[in-house]
Amino acid sequence: MADDYYQILGVSRTASADDIKKAFRKLARQYHPDVNPGNKAAEEKFKQVNSAFEVLSDEKKRKLYDEFGAEAAKIGFDEKKAEQVRAYRAAQSAGGGMPFGGGGGGGGGVDFDLGDLFDLFNRAGAGQDVSDMFGRAGAGARPPSPAGPAAGEDITATLSLSFKDALSGAERAISLQRPGRCQRCQGSGEVGTPTTCATCGGTGRVRRSGALGMSSSGMCPACRGTGRTAPPCTSCRGSGVVEETTRLTVKIPAGVQTGSKIRLSGQGAAGSRGGPPGDLYIETIVADHPLVRREGDDLYMDLPVTVSEAMLGAEVRVPTFQGEVTVKVPEGSQSGRRMRLRGRGAPSLKGGPTGDFYLTLQVKVPEQPSQEARKAAEALARSYQTDVRGALQL
Ligand SMILES: [Zn+2]
Ligand SMILES: [Zn+2]
Repeated sequence: MADDYYQILGVSRTASADDIKKAFRKLARQYHPDVNPGNKAAEEKFKQVNSAFEVLSDEKKRKLYDEFGAEAAKIGFDEKKAEQVRAYRAAQSAGGGMPFGGGGGGGGGVDFDLGDLFDLFNRAGAGQDVSDMFGRAGAGARPPSPAGPAAGEDITATLSLSFKDALSGAERAISLQRPGRCQRCQGSGEVGTPTTCATCGGTGRVRRSGALGMSSSGMCPACRGTGRTAPPCTSCRGSGVVEETTRLTVKIPAGVQTGSKIRLSGQGAAGSRGGPPGDLYIETIVADHPLVRREGDDLYMDLPVTVSEAMLGAEVRVPTFQGEVTVKVPEGSQSGRRMRLRGRGAPSLKGGPTGDFYLTLQVKVPEQPSQEARKAAEALARSYQTDVRGALQL
């Protein structure tokens, strides 16, 4: 496999959900477009990391990926199809062969393209004679459950933001591929006028012959017990769902962090045959800032001051994300002194108070002191009343 999702994230196949999340966040920040402007290789890597995470972070998709590979982890391959493929494989290995009515088909043990196989299943699903076809599939094969309305899946998409946009909130247009409602049949999976079901003759029930000459009666899979069928929609092959690309405008609230999730109700995958849609979750990835560090809703930054500002005190201008402020540096401030600008941190997503902005003083000595400055420094040296390293007792 060209893209091993586990390798891309640098985790083992048994990695926990937490480990996968951690690995993803680390890589996403590292290859974030904001941190690597114009770097095509980083951008490519960022995309790969995102794709890998999209699958491995979703328990269901991860399971499908582990069993069937990347093809299966794509949107539209669900547990029902997985069940059919498993049944088919079981039939193959049991020597049952030929579940497709004798024509064509691969011999036992032939490894063939999953995509083709899904096509076959899709076509079979739209046909009339599903139960009969699976009835001959041999050991291990079970008939598929009748396909009624099913709720759409939730979808998670990731969105990257700069540090600043995450603090102020932002509006983004995103392009999203998702299973959407088929326009042609309005999601019902059927077009035209329903007529009497050809499989059950309108009774809604069919007889199945089983092993040892026993037979049983069950719900007709073709009409799902209603006794009537309409021609399946050819646009969506009867599922009511087609893959679509949508553009959505997403409002990102102020204060999001890496891993914050915004829920867009009903914007996930469309339900099949008229089932309700799933939700869309936007998970934000926030780029690191070169100067400011965030912890919870508090922000931290070093504030450089001159020797004289620290020694004599000063009022200095300091940029914050809410505009410039004047900060009073107290007389006799030591390097490392921490000052707090209340309410100048990140807005609280949970509706609490805005965080604080902490400044850590960093005393800067001149890099090229003049003769005069050197003289002043010598005078300074004589001003210490105690040994500055006197307290260092190890
Ligand atoms: Zn349709
Ligand atoms: Zn029927």
